[in-house]
Formats: sequence, structure tokens, C-alpha cells
Amino acid sequence: MRYEGGCHCGNLKVRFETALDAGRVPLRACGCTFCRRHGATWTSDPAGSLEVRVGDPQLLSRYRFGLGTSEFLLCRRCGVPVAAVCELDGATYAALNANALDDRGRLTQAPLPVDYDGETAEDRLARRRRAWTPARVG
Ligand SMILES: [Zn+2]
Repeated sequence: MRYEGGCHCGNLKVRFETALDAGRVPLRACGCTFCRRHGATWTSDPAGSLEVRVGDPQLLSRYRFGLGTSEFLLCRRCGVPVAAVCELDGATYAALNANALDDRGRLTQAPLPVDYDGETAEDRLARRRRAWTPARVG
């Protein structure tokens, strides 16, 4: 299944491909201070793929905090965070903000509350390598 979406104003577009049935696409409600403030709901599929297309690169904001091991991609114009990306061994992995998908309503899993505060940087990278989606940003 292919899902399309993006930020609110359309500067950032996303395309998520996954072989998972819509009802099995995992959703996570991260309890960190950033995600709570945005009300973001994250998804990923290590066997899928994600493409983030940037209209005007001047309007792409990259935000890091905490351990700084991933970067949130937000639109500077409309404020929507579309993905979090992480570079591992020369490849890009990402978690997608499912709320940025046009067909968000098809994903019927209840968002699972998660809290990664106790992780070391190493734990965190290992988890992303396992669970995040291979991605391309451009
Ligand atoms: Zn926007």
C-alpha cells in the first residue's frame, strides 16, 4: 500500500510504502516533550520505504534536541513535523508522522504510548536500525 501526505501547506511531501495491512501499521504516541507538544503519532516499517520531497529547501527546518541522534523535519511555513530522520552507516532511516498522511483514517491501530527517555544513545540507534523505515530525503 502506498500512502501520500505532507505538511499542511504542501512544501514537504511524503510517500510511504508498506506491505502491511492498514489495520496493522503500527502507531506510536511518543511521550517526549517535543512530540507531546505537536501531538504527533509516529509510524515506521523496516521493510517499507519512505520518501520525503522538499519543495523550497529554505522552508525546511531541521530540529534536534536531547541526545541529538535524530533530526525532526518540519515545515518552516506551516509548522508541521513530517518525519524524524537518523543517519546510520551511510543510510537514512526515518519515522513518519502518520498524522501527516492524507489517508490517516485508514490506519486503525490505537497509538501505543511509548517513552524512550531511559535509552542510551546506543540503544536508540539500535532500535531505529531495527524499527525505522529506510528513507530518502530530497
Ligand atoms: Zn508546510
